[in-house]
Amino acid sequence: MKIDRIELFHISIPFAKPYALSKAYGTLRDAHAVIFKVHTDEGAVGLGEADPMNPFTDETPSSVMVVTKDVIAPRLLGQDPLQVATLERMLDQSVHGNLTARGAVNMALHDIAGKAMGIPVHAMLGGRLHSEIPILWGTSSATPAEDIASIEELMHLGCRTVMLKMGALPVSQEIKRLISVRKYFEDDLSLVVDANQGWEVVEAFTFIEGVRGCPLQMIEQPVKHWDLEGLKRIRQRSPCPLSADESLVTIHDAANLVREKAVDVFSIKVSKNGGLTKGKAIAQVAQAFDLKILMNSMLEFGITQAASLHLGCTLSNLLDMGHAYGSVVRMSDDVTDFGQNISGATVKVPDTAGLGVRLDEKKLKQYTKEHLEIKHE
Ligand SMILES: [Mg+2]
Repeated sequence: MKIDRIELFHISIPFAKPYALSKAYGTLRDAHAVIFKVHTDEGAVGLGEADPMNPFTDETPSSVMVVTKDVIAPRLLGQDPLQVATLERMLDQSVHGNLTARGAVNMALHDIAGKAMGIPVHAMLGGRLHSEIPILWGTSSATPAEDIASIEELMHLGCRTVMLKMGALPVSQEIKRLISVRKYFEDDLSLVVDANQGWEVVEAFTFIEGVRGCPLQMIEQPVKHWDLEGLKRIRQRSPCPLSADESLVTIHDAANLVREKAVDVFSIKVSKNGGLTKGKAIAQVAQAFDLKILMNSMLEFGITQAASLHLGCTLSNLLDMGHAYGSVVRMSDDVTDFGQNISGATVKVPDTAGLGVRLDEKKLKQYTKEHLEIKHE
């Protein structure tokens, strides 16, 4: 079998409701992704998805398309897609960075290989330990009353873990938000705070002191991605585990976070981390040092979410709480059928071959802003 054609589709779909993140990212109205179709000469098609979001990642949908056309595709065309490890190493040697583009390719190769062997991708990753996983939901930056109203809706679905997005408002207001939500829901709810790099170290200290005594499951990425020393200082004062998201892109970041004793949890996103092979390697670094994993998500559609689920279900060091498998629900639509795995606040791991996700061609056409086809000459 040989790869003979690669198609790229830059899609854009509005959120169901505008999504307010931190100072760094502002309020988002549409999610963008690049869908990959990797075609073979035997008619098999592998699906991949890149979820770049500048300035979270250093890529954009356009840069994903350009680097794929100019650098990645010329090396993949004519190759055997079943040689996943060989192709991964070849691209490691020839492409610097561009991990969301690389991740989409890695997902598509796993999809083709799983379909060729008639097994789900999780079986290729060692087999599943979890057949279903509770979902963690994120709420936008909001007032305490808005937080409580949106969390009540989620709890009706069965949700028991919520990630409050912080880092956009003054810290004194963020403290009030957390205390109000905690008082209202008491022990029925596990709370995670994600500041998305929005704080200085002293602001994180103020937050920790302000919410002391208020049970909190985890704080994610309070400070800038490069500030491992800051993370370490915050961890030393934090009453709850600290997670790295933006600070954890490559396996070398994972090694540095461990060396610095900077965090307790790695927040893995298969698109951000460059695919399933690299995501699994990062999870194993965490396992070796007794760190836990939050399976987290960018603003993802069903292909990345499926890939993330196939990886997450194989991990023995998943945090004992919800994980981010509800990304398609916060969008007004999706180009895949991934949503069928979600019931209430639980996601069921699919056992069909490959990634187990199907593209809706009509919707793909409807939401495509730019299409590119790269063929083997
Ligand atoms: Mg995060």
